Amino acid sequence: MIGISILGATGSIGRSTLDVIARHPDKYTVIALTAHTDVTGLTQQCQRYQPRLAVMADAASAEQLALKLKQCAPDTEVLSGAAGLAAAAAHPAADQVMAAIVGAVGLAPTLAAVQAGKRVLLANKEALVMAGDLFMTAVQKHQAQIIPIDSEHNAIFQCLPATYNAAELTACGVERILLTASGGPFLNRAFDTLVEATPEEACAHPKWKMGRKISVDSASLMNKGLEVIEAHYLFQADPQQIEVVVHPQSIVHSLVAYQDGSVLAQLGNPDMRTPIAHAMAWPERHTSGVAPLDLTDIARLDFQTPDQQRFPCLGLAYTAIAAGGTAPAILNAANEVAVAHFLQGRLPFTAIPQVIEASLTALAGSEPTPTLTELFAIDQQARHHAEQVITQWLP
Ligand code: NAD
Ligand code: MG
Repeated sequence: MIGISILGATGSIGRSTLDVIARHPDKYTVIALTAHTDVTGLTQQCQRYQPRLAVMADAASAEQLALKLKQCAPDTEVLSGAAGLAAAAAHPAADQVMAAIVGAVGLAPTLAAVQAGKRVLLANKEALVMAGDLFMTAVQKHQAQIIPIDSEHNAIFQCLPATYNAAELTACGVERILLTASGGPFLNRAFDTLVEATPEEACAHPKWKMGRKISVDSASLMNKGLEVIEAHYLFQADPQQIEVVVHPQSIVHSLVAYQDGSVLAQLGNPDMRTPIAHAMAWPERHTSGVAPLDLTDIARLDFQTPDQQRFPCLGLAYTAIAAGGTAPAILNAANEVAVAHFLQGRLPFTAIPQVIEASLTALAGSEPTPTLTELFAIDQQARHHAEQVITQWLP
């Protein structure tokens, strides 16, 4: 049996992971489940999967959970806070850790899983964006295994040679990585109406059902920006080697172009259970519950260049890689703050890139190889700065 801990079990990725696990009760056993404040959601999951450990973000929620589990999962230990998350991530019985907390708050527990030498199924892209160099160094040092869950990076992983091990991409004959982007709900929306875009419109993704934060990121193309940074660190790819192609059908999940002219792609229906099942079973394969791909039904696959004028966030991500050091962490923190305000109806959609750019300009460039402490400090500073910038839009 393979033991698996799920950080962010009640979210979109967490629930899809449990769906895949439920299809293979002979292969996987759930070791730990964590959630932010959704006591009811985590209670139901604990009742069904009887994990050894359940973790809530705060002590009050943990107390409520413990009370409920007395009836339905009496053997599950309940913890809370950062220590609880670290215990779930590094649990000795967990072979695999699904890192599916959203945002920078996922960095510490994801790193704890890396330091414990786990197979880390990495959905939490913000952790890698924030601390890419440090994160990948820890992976090497602790001989952890990172299998990307982000559908694009999982596709790239599948299209790279099986022997690929964070070596020079060029040594493997790779010329370019092509990240596909659906273009999100505003792909064809006129620029002058974007200022009125509502949270509901931004979260109505045409192809993927996801959490609200990543849905807004998809609408602004910041998701693709974060993914460019993610690919830069994961595959040690130069920014010039990473190209973004808009592909509205979301069937081709990404491609790798080799020096001999071959371009390998991974295709499938847009359902996160495919990359999740792939990462869990790798190097083997097993079922995921995803419907088979019917190409004649899809009939056509379209590709186009991203419109960086309507969607400046993508360009800002390339700027952050070029600046290096703390810049990606600043970009990520300012984006998280701006998106939270947008989701609460306090900030226009078009202000998101403005907040990020202002924060990058004000704060980037101080420390080329930041430590974890420095990264957490700059994350806080960038959040504070972004809040200040946002006051100009508030009543
Ligand atoms: P979600 O909002 O649906 O779920 C987030 C999870 O994190 C929940 O379980 C929540 O309880 C937990 N969480 C949130 N804040 C927390 C906090 N402060 N402390 C502890 N736990 C907290 O998000 P999602 O769509 O599942 O995305 C999760 C991650 O996976 C994100 O980093 C996202 O970018 C990435 N991702 C998601 C998808 C997708 O299809 N949903 C695809 C690719 C990558
Ligand atoms: Mg993705």
